[in-house]
Amino acid sequence: MHIDELDLQGKVALVRVDFNVPLKDGVVGDRNRIIAAVPTIEKLLDSGAKVVLMSHLGRPKGEVKAEFSLSQIVSAVSEELGREVAFVDQCVGQEVKEAIANLKENGVLLLENLRFHAEEEKGDRAFASQLAELGDVYVNDAFGTAHRAHASTAIIADFFKADERAFGYLIQNELEAVARLLQEPQRPFTAIMGGAKISDKILLIENILDKVDRLIIGGGMSYTFFKAKGGDVGNSLVEEDKLQLALDLLNKAEEKGVELHLPQDSIIADNFSNDANTSEADNMQIKSGWMGLDIGSKASREFAEVVESSKTILWNGPMGVFEMSKFAEGTKAMATAIANATENGAFSLIGGGDSAAAIRTFNFDDKVSYISTGGGALLEYLEGKELPGIKAIQS
Ligand code: AMP
Repeated sequence: MHIDELDLQGKVALVRVDFNVPLKDGVVGDRNRIIAAVPTIEKLLDSGAKVVLMSHLGRPKGEVKAEFSLSQIVSAVSEELGREVAFVDQCVGQEVKEAIANLKENGVLLLENLRFHAEEEKGDRAFASQLAELGDVYVNDAFGTAHRAHASTAIIADFFKADERAFGYLIQNELEAVARLLQEPQRPFTAIMGGAKISDKILLIENILDKVDRLIIGGGMSYTFFKAKGGDVGNSLVEEDKLQLALDLLNKAEEKGVELHLPQDSIIADNFSNDANTSEADNMQIKSGWMGLDIGSKASREFAEVVESSKTILWNGPMGVFEMSKFAEGTKAMATAIANATENGAFSLIGGGDSAAAIRTFNFDDKVSYISTGGGALLEYLEGKELPGIKAIQS
């Protein structure tokens, strides 16, 4: 059901949000996850519902730990919503029911960390049923955990009828953004894969080969390809047990007629440090003792041309160790090329924590079409897997 079709007047809306935000000394750092949930919460309130918010925070592993208490984020949620937010230090039981009963019309209540109960991550039915008792309708807006069959993300949906459960706007937007990529994308469609390891992205690369016209591979994972092709990669990151897999991927890309771009050159360093000595090298001939930490200038230019002439773009993973300024140029060049392509009418989706962080570091967040909030969830969805949190609402 679409959130706009739910009957909400006078109802208690139980909303699973992803408020797993970074905290430092009890203060919320990046508020993006809270901000992302605001449209859904406002819609529910505007439609006459009381709102009960539930989330996890960190990995308390089934134990009550003060450092993971959601009480620490109440003021941030309240500020972003521009209204008072009540808090209860439990997420199920009588105390919570009373707090809900005491909520004023248009009130908002935040429950304590769901993962203080081990049953949450186990997907326990009895616990899901206790949660379900709290609301008249269930709204899931936690895309970041949609790939988990946890009590509050998936199992709970069973306790609500089809017309009593819906996705929030955040999940809806994520699904629409991915649909634009996977269903009749405008061509050429280019995927840019980077980051540390091929092993993390193999399923995604395999699945995306059926959809894209061009595939760019950069970042740490590219050196496994060069090593597999017989190159000298020095001390660069290599997954020795994935050499054959890399060759298989190259063959698959060719069979499927996908234009594959590996970086011709790298910025190499004699140390994994921002103070290292650096130089540029062809990726088949990296000196022993040196390592590739960013794509080189030839690769940057080639990749930028490919991206700027694309109409649909998926970016997952940085081109180098962008956390160090000396090795951030390649990633910045990609972000610039994606922003230029988007300005010229392309649809661009940025997925995965690191590429989203990179886009924000370089202040390009409003120059791309969509930045996904889901790391693992987005990857699994793009891999073609069915996400339990999505299926639970749709079935
Ligand atoms: P991932 O989480 O797999 O997307 O990987 C992101 C991480 O890959 C970032 O922290 C980067 O610093 C790292 N990375 C990117 N390129 C390289 C490289 N050439 N060598 C080592 N690490 C890299």
